[in-house]
Amino acid sequence: MSRRPSRRRGAGPALSVGIVAIGDELLSGFKVDTNSAWIGQRLAEIGVPVVHRACAGDGVDQIAQAVGDALQRATAVIVTGGLGPTIDDRTREGIAQFAKVRCARDPRAEDLVRTRLASVGREVRESHLLQADLPQGAVALANAVGIAPGFKLSVKDALIFSVPGPPREMQAVVEAGVVPELLRRRTSMTATRSMRTALVPETAVAAVVEPMLQAHPEVAVAYLPSPAEVVVRLSVITDDERNGGTDAVAHLEEAAEEVREALGDVVVGDAAHSLEEAVVTLLANAGRTVAVAESLTGGLVAAAMTDVPGASQVLLGGVVSYSTDSKHALLGVERQLLAEHGAVHAGVAREMAEGVRERFGADFGLATTGVAGPGEQDGQPVGRVHVAIASATSEVDVTLDLFGDRAHIRRQSVVQALDLLRRTLLGLPPHRSG
Ligand code: AMP
Ligand code: MG
Repeated sequence: MSRRPSRRRGAGPALSVGIVAIGDELLSGFKVDTNSAWIGQRLAEIGVPVVHRACAGDGVDQIAQAVGDALQRATAVIVTGGLGPTIDDRTREGIAQFAKVRCARDPRAEDLVRTRLASVGREVRESHLLQADLPQGAVALANAVGIAPGFKLSVKDALIFSVPGPPREMQAVVEAGVVPELLRRRTSMTATRSMRTALVPETAVAAVVEPMLQAHPEVAVAYLPSPAEVVVRLSVITDDERNGGTDAVAHLEEAAEEVREALGDVVVGDAAHSLEEAVVTLLANAGRTVAVAESLTGGLVAAAMTDVPGASQVLLGGVVSYSTDSKHALLGVERQLLAEHGAVHAGVAREMAEGVRERFGADFGLATTGVAGPGEQDGQPVGRVHVAIASATSEVDVTLDLFGDRAHIRRQSVVQALDLLRRTLLGLPPHRSG
């Protein structure tokens, strides 16, 4: 008498996911595919690897093809979009074509549609019920915030999820119907540790990180640069936590600690927190306040700080003094200094910082002045930027020659100013590149 052995956990290929976004409007760029990014981040949080992403138009053949392609590379696919009641919503048919089944009215899906319509006091129309015509064998997934149900369908060893396109509905169905299933099927997971650095180019960060990782071959590294910042993401693939992935996680933590130490004070903190968050937290913990005087950044430094909840505790205010005259009139920068050197000058930055500090009665004044481009100004080249910080007892300025277009130079200047404040709060000298 033999019992058929149940398939052991992890005996099949490891769970991996492909994401397919459906919509002609996504291909044309008329709409940006934010759903795939959201799903990617959500799956990263639960340690499920996303190995493929694609976008397909609204045609049945295109959808069937894209699902097939995704399942060449992944064991599960999440399809988002094309589940509405209109003629351009063909995802149900596309997945049915791929699976070589027909669509038929699904009683549970119909029930979900009727219940949802009743709950919002709407009449049931035949077009609504088209959303309950699922590929045969599919299991409907409830949509708590919209009418179209999602569904899941097994095809051989592969698993297909179909979730709506409207972002709120997509999120609701992924949370309620997809994430729990993926957690059940997860046999390994990706653990990550990410840290944010400021003012060091990607190649210089890599030059410090890579020797540290030679002793940790199982740890993978990715560098995610943005203007004047680089996020270093370290990751390991582990067995599921439940059956002893702790070793790999311990290695990862050890590697992360070593990397962090090697990088030193250019590490702002955990990548989950922005530079502006780090600065607001440091100020709050020190019980100190700041006011900002901005020329080329035009309020971006203040905007970045006020993005952070709790900023009102530490940011007293700011002045956008864009014209040369306003630097004198509003901040008290000496007329003669402006007349002699123009507005893009280290001394001007210092006086702006001191002027705004005094006027707001803040512990620190932070200032930016420079040339964002595209043309030079007062004889100064594009990218020449001065940032300065003033406290009751000292003033510090930093002169920079930044590269890039106008937006890039302005964002780099924001990071430079915020990081100067961060370093001052930590008792560190300004970062000098090179
Ligand atoms: P659909 O159900 O595909 O017709 O999508 C309905 C609406 O959801 C579209 O008009 C878009 O505004 C939005 N949508 C669909 N797919 C996406 C996506 N991948 N990312 C962001 N928004 C989307
Ligand atoms: Mg659509």
